[in-house]
Amino acid sequence: MTQAAGGATVIVIPQPTLNGPLHVGHLSGPFIAADIASRAARGRGERVFTLAGVDVHPNFVMAKADNRGVDVHEMVADYRSQIQVAFDLARIGYDTFLDPEQPAFERAINLMLNQMLDTGSLEMREMVLHQCADCGRTLHHAYVVGKCPHCGSGANGLSCEPCGGFTSASTLIQPSCARCGGDPQPMVATVPVLRLENHREQLIAEWTKAELPARVRSVIGQYLTVPLPDYPVAYPTDWGIEGTGALSGLRIDFPAELGLSYLYGPASALDPSADSLADWVAVWQQQFSGLWHFNGIDNAFYFAVLYPAVFAAAGIPEPKMRGATVNELFLLEGLKFSSSRNHALWANEFLASEDPELVRLFLSWHRPDRYETNFTDESFRAFSSYVRPLLDGTFAGAGLPAQLAAGELERAEQSLQLTNLDPAMALRCLLGALSSGHGYDSVALTALTGRPAGR
Ligand SMILES: [Zn+2]
Ligand SMILES: [Zn+2]
Repeated sequence: MTQAAGGATVIVIPQPTLNGPLHVGHLSGPFIAADIASRAARGRGERVFTLAGVDVHPNFVMAKADNRGVDVHEMVADYRSQIQVAFDLARIGYDTFLDPEQPAFERAINLMLNQMLDTGSLEMREMVLHQCADCGRTLHHAYVVGKCPHCGSGANGLSCEPCGGFTSASTLIQPSCARCGGDPQPMVATVPVLRLENHREQLIAEWTKAELPARVRSVIGQYLTVPLPDYPVAYPTDWGIEGTGALSGLRIDFPAELGLSYLYGPASALDPSADSLADWVAVWQQQFSGLWHFNGIDNAFYFAVLYPAVFAAAGIPEPKMRGATVNELFLLEGLKFSSSRNHALWANEFLASEDPELVRLFLSWHRPDRYETNFTDESFRAFSSYVRPLLDGTFAGAGLPAQLAAGELERAEQSLQLTNLDPAMALRCLLGALSSGHGYDSVALTALTGRPAGR
């Protein structure tokens, strides 16, 4: 089966971890930008397929429920509904929304991993993992803390926020149990392993072809001269999808689950009768041309290394990563958003109490794309009173000379291509055009505001 030349690009709106509601910093990063890019692409007549969902299976979720002393399933349901409200109010659309607690989803992930074991693209073997000498927990993701081996920053066993490098209990410097402070102790387990190094050739083809920002390339650069890690895709632990078949007694690693979700989600949405790894691969190959990730720079190892390797191991024979749009941190009144210190502006609450269109536009205006940016209430108020009359067509100030409007609209629309996406530039150009009375029926206006096309 040959690849459909005009296949849709899958735009990945990252699945938020259900260890809290979305805050305005999250919205300002991948979420609104992915929606703007999708609407703009559709406005240009391009085929895109938007994938969204939630992420239940990182053990950050379990750790949060334990810390709060609440039932984890009730907490997950609560955060999920708050996130859904934020998506709706922010007008973040999607073609499929993956629910990882659906039995069909859990079954599909298990089926794909078991079939990858059957074909030999995963291998069961003994691996030294680590457990806490005191509480016995498997030390991975939220359960382990130490220093990043690449840059020395504090990190969990997942990735390093400042440098984007991969971290695990085996690679962290001075690792300890994040739950009780205990020391790590080696634990030999028989687990399914994805040998990333086996896929180096295809990964290099991905990295060569994909449109990746320099910061992502610097994360990849860490792996050009050293072997890629062997990656266990399931292991004994207390959180995550329970394995079946050859994976019985293990829980599935959540980044491996996410990588497979980008194969399964679009393919099963287009052909619900597909029911095997080979089927989903075939549908993907027929219907889709590539993937574009929207994500924070701290997830670079996962979207640029692990997920392409998962696709290769699943049987997708050529590079599929078209590119990635990343963001830096967004600050709140000069400080990092922090749910533990309650220094946050919750997206669902803020969108419900303000004009969601202005929230969406302000977060684009101030998007943390090139550098960390800062939300202040004062600047949001100033922006709102300046922009509302422009949107309503009641702006009475000195507008842009009318002769310049067409050029501004052209630049706005060019700034909304997936390549070098720049919503902050697009919005400034659009506002200039609106100030001269032009652009009210433009793709830039519908894409940036999320209004239905044609108003
Ligand atoms: Zn412990
Ligand atoms: Zn680091």
